[in-house]
This record gives sequence, C-alpha cells and structure tokens, in this order.
Amino acid sequence: MKCPRCVQGIHRAAESCPHCGYSQADADARYGNEDVRMRCLTDQAGIFRRGDRGRVEAAMEAFSRRFPQLFVAVFTGTLGEVSQLRQFGLWLLNRAAFEDLPADKPNEAGILLTIDPDSKAAGIVFGYLLDPYLDEAATFECLSRAHAHWLEERYTAGVIRVLAHLEHVLKKRSRQARRDPEQFQRRVLPPGMGGDRLQSLRRGHRSEEKAREVLESSQ
Ligand SMILES: [Zn+2]
Repeated sequence: MKCPRCVQGIHRAAESCPHCGYSQADADARYGNEDVRMRCLTDQAGIFRRGDRGRVEAAMEAFSRRFPQLFVAVFTGTLGEVSQLRQFGLWLLNRAAFEDLPADKPNEAGILLTIDPDSKAAGIVFGYLLDPYLDEAATFECLSRAHAHWLEERYTAGVIRVLAHLEHVLKKRSRQARRDPEQFQRRVLPPGMGGDRLQSLRRGHRSEEKAREVLESSQ
C-alpha cells in the first residue's frame, strides 16, 4: 500500500511509515480516537437527492450480492485539503462501525469511496483483504470513470460508474486468482496495522456503548 501522507510504498503491516513516520496514531490525533457509528452510505455533504440515495444504495447492495464477502461504503463531506483525503479515508475505514452491516463482516473487507464536493476530490481506500485484488492503478481507473459525471455534479451517475468498474476489476482479478492461486496468495500480506488492529477496534466498539457519533452529530 502507499503511505497516506507521503504516498510512498510501505508494507501494510508496518506500524509507521519508514519514510515520513506517519502512523495510525497521527490520524487518530487529527480526526479522533474513538469509533464512528455510521451507515454505509453517509452523505454528510448532502449531494444525493432523495431519489438518488435509493439508486446509490441499490448499486451498493447489488455489489454486496455479487461479492458477499465484501462491502462498499460511500462517504461524502467537506474535508479541507485534498491531500488529507487519503488519510481521512483510511482513518474512517479503520474507525467506522457500520450500523447497517452484518456484525460478522469486517472492515478489512470494505472498500470506501470518499467524495468531497467542495474541493472536487474523491478517493478510494480498501481493507487489507482486498490487497490481492486491488491496487492504486485499479482504484484510479474506477475514479476516472466517474470524473466527467462528477465535474457536472452528477454524483449518483458517477458513483454508479465507479461501482460498475470496481465490479469489472474484481471479477477479472478473481478469475485470475482462480487460474493462479499461488501468485495471489503470495500477494496477501500478513495483517498488521490494518488487520489485527482493525479487528480489535471493532470488538472494542461493540462492548462500548457510547461511541462518539462524530459524523451524525455534525450533520
Ligand atoms: Zn509516509
């Protein structure tokens, strides 16, 4: 994966970035160190109209039916500097406690699309279970499918294009994985910062009644 701050390649299991020293603790210090209860579709920026919400949710559900082990989340909001989008995305995927997901679906199996309509930026981050199937080039390709739509503020159409291309990429890569399972197994990194830690955070959340509802309360 790439370090969310300096964007150099780092091992997913690294505690901190060997290039710039970035760690999950830095993101916690900036955005909060408690879990965030939210729905898979959280439109804090209010860019989806009522009817559009349903279309986005239907596309997200269709994705989950096709890939029952995985899920997609969409977050929109004003996040300030564009350079922070990646850090925020990874932090949110770590901290989110998705209310509308089955409890046994881990965040490690999630793909989070973040859209900031004010800075006209969007990003995709994903949990480590997706490491063998997704990479920077693939997620960039997905986002480019939506670019023209988003420039014209057709957010729903853009998200649907992203999900369609994501599905295309994942189907292609899972076919390749079936043909050459060893190669894909080698690409699965041992869970470290993004794995064990995620799990323990989620467990912690369930036992803790008052998770701070940062996103909901600021809406
Ligand atoms: Zn770094």
